[in-house]
Amino acid sequence: MRKMFKCPICGEETISIKDKRKLDYRFKTKIKCSNCNSVFRQSYIAALVLLCFGLVGVLIVTRNFNLVIKCILIILLSVLYFYVDLYLVPIVKYDE
Ligand SMILES: [Zn+2]
Repeated sequence: MRKMFKCPICGEETISIKDKRKLDYRFKTKIKCSNCNSVFRQSYIAALVLLCFGLVGVLIVTRNFNLVIKCILIILLSVLYFYVDLYLVPIVKYDE
């Protein structure tokens, strides 16, 4: 697992997991690269990811599965969402 993320502008590993977790496109949270001072926000791809996971969640809940299986699938889905959101959703340069 990576501990730091690369800044898309200067390429230095200046963005910590903690910083990246703070980012949320819904609240327009921003982070700053400590090396080049570029400001970033979370990409709106995060909205798409959330939508896809939401749909899968609805599918699981509305299927005729055993309740225990549903719970396990929902927990797995939540964990997967957490990692996809953290590692695969890119950060983009923030512009007003
Ligand atoms: Zn930078």
